[in-house]
Amino acid sequence: MKNIPYKIYLSEEELPRQWYNVRADMKTDHSPILNPATLKPVTVSDLEPVFCTELAKQELNTTDRFIDIPDEVRDFYKMYRPSPLVRAYCLEKALGTPAKIYYKFEGQNTSGSHKLNSAIAQAYYAKQQGLTSLTTETGAGQWGTALSMACGYFGLKLRVYMVRVSSEQKPYRKAVMETYGAKVIPSPSDTTNVGRKILAEFPDNTGSLGTAISEAVEVAVSTEGTRYVLGSVLNQVLLHQTIIGLESKKALEKCDEYPDIVIGCAGGGSNLGGLMAPFMQDKLAGRHAPHFIAVEPASCPSLTRGKFAYDFCDTGKVTPLARMYTLGSGFIPSANHAGGLRYHGMSPILSQLYHDGYLDEARSVEQTKVFEAAELFARVEGTLPAPESSHAIAVAIQEALKCKETGEEKTILFGLTGTGYFDLAAYMAYNAGTMTDYIPTDADLERGFSCIPHLDGIQ
Ligand SMILES: *Cc1c(COP(=O)(O)O)cnc(C)c1O
Repeated sequence: MKNIPYKIYLSEEELPRQWYNVRADMKTDHSPILNPATLKPVTVSDLEPVFCTELAKQELNTTDRFIDIPDEVRDFYKMYRPSPLVRAYCLEKALGTPAKIYYKFEGQNTSGSHKLNSAIAQAYYAKQQGLTSLTTETGAGQWGTALSMACGYFGLKLRVYMVRVSSEQKPYRKAVMETYGAKVIPSPSDTTNVGRKILAEFPDNTGSLGTAISEAVEVAVSTEGTRYVLGSVLNQVLLHQTIIGLESKKALEKCDEYPDIVIGCAGGGSNLGGLMAPFMQDKLAGRHAPHFIAVEPASCPSLTRGKFAYDFCDTGKVTPLARMYTLGSGFIPSANHAGGLRYHGMSPILSQLYHDGYLDEARSVEQTKVFEAAELFARVEGTLPAPESSHAIAVAIQEALKCKETGEEKTILFGLTGTGYFDLAAYMAYNAGTMTDYIPTDADLERGFSCIPHLDGIQ
């Protein structure tokens, strides 16, 4: 028997030097992102008023398989990467499974999640371009925190539109963001036209990521030296997050391991896209056939119950149109939903891979089941997981228990995207037994679908 340690660390030297662009290998590229005014595929110059130029180029890059990680970004990565790949011996034992479970832990930085991997890259390109400030939205707060750290590092100003319900649930997130120099504004707000319009119509609106995006974009395009950045969904973000999968693959190779099953939680799809990318490369090339599973909340089920259609990426309908699995840009998960992953759509890359069957499966989990898995994981593996990450834990446990039944020694890899220190209100609700599940009815979903635009002649 090989002696595989609990934690497998790569050296700083082994930190990947390039990100992997899965689009260069996809059998069918995702449908083009459309300019909402012309319904023509967007070009770099369409995107430039909103995004940094280099990031706009990455967004539309279908040809370069590998893209160099700039030295400054790689140096920043070294402050918290390579992140550990952990063999979950204690979880295996608690479950009594013959499966070998590994997780890639992205929570060991102050922002507490994988989002810093893209935040630092995006801030770097903004700085390179000579921009002075950025705007963004944040839901649960991880992205806003990560970007605050990145902007603080490069001396950029940052304005964060934070979904109102989250800003009320998570006041400490704001304290961290402000410490790094960001300005945090609960959304919808009266600082933008789109926010004022939404508040006039629905004064008690608790906000959504879609609305916060609309506000952040409005400010970016109307303020000198300012661009908008997004923490998930976009191709550029998936690209930066491939650092997770590339490191995981290298670390597994050191142990002569290759995953049979790769599991990730899916909000906008960036951590799963990044974790599975190098394994997807193998699958697309016919070298290996790992089984990929996306896990989403039952209360925001874009892959399992959404439509594959062109839709806006925001509620205010100011962003380009992407063909993706979507619940409709007006969809807002029920207010009792505490587990993050509340975005209405899904990364166009992941959507296409799912549609074509390369991303094999999507599963949804109810939040009380998610917290059950989180509790078990915390007790046996020692780390308090983020609720988002715990979706992946729940399905990793399901798969490990299947192995227990069949006796198969499958190798399971999942993404532990973050820690749960800022989700203590949700843990308190779970511990008090007051957490409830709400699964949207078909009628609830129909209301969201009714916002999906009908684009004549465009599939
Ligand atoms: C944002 C976040 C997610 C979900 O985002 P993806 O883009 O789908 O990866 C998952 N886990 C944590 C901890 C997060 O902060």
